[in-house]
Amino acid sequence: MKKLEERILKEGRALSKEVLKVDSFLNHAVDTKLMYDIGEEFKKYFENHNITKIFTIESSGIAPAVMTAFLMDLPMVTLKKKTSKILNGEVYQTTVHSFTKDSDYELTLSKDYINSNDKVLIIDDFLANGEAAKGAARLVEEAGAKVSGIGIVIEKSFQPGREILEEKGYDICSLARISKLDKDVIEFIEE
Ligand code: 5GP
Repeated sequence: MKKLEERILKEGRALSKEVLKVDSFLNHAVDTKLMYDIGEEFKKYFENHNITKIFTIESSGIAPAVMTAFLMDLPMVTLKKKTSKILNGEVYQTTVHSFTKDSDYELTLSKDYINSNDKVLIIDDFLANGEAAKGAARLVEEAGAKVSGIGIVIEKSFQPGREILEEKGYDICSLARISKLDKDVIEFIEE
């Protein structure tokens, strides 16, 4: 997505060879018009996938997911990050390792918001090692539902997330694919 790549080049900052900061339009301040355009792109890619619900992971996935859900006229659910296990049988939970915080959390979904007929599109802001997306997919599949796609705003293609998710057979649409990150260097995969 050209407009997104231009914005990343203009305002993104590589904190290291592995972490990109895009606080000015995605992770802290949110450019709602850009989020709308991102929603249009995901809609274009996924509109014939028979999606019934859009899931995201709190908190930076919410903005792109809400626009996509609005444009596709679908319900949206935010998966919650809890610090401890809930043992009441009303939720699905799975442990996920956070790339940015280097700690674990319990990704949590209430059983009220999924059923076995659902075909779910998972949307997240970044794809690095694939832990967050894999965790979301585990919850969907534990409920007997299907993961019908994964939409990523910024994929760091030099990290293994995409390969891991593709091996599991998921259909992934990433709107910007970064091939190299370093101080003052942000390069994209030519598509
Ligand atoms: P993964 O689970 O694929 O290893 O990492 C994805 C999650 O970690 C995303 O939900 C995102 O919040 C966070 N993340 C991974 N890499 C980056 C990055 O370079 N910048 C920012 N801002 N977040 C990242």
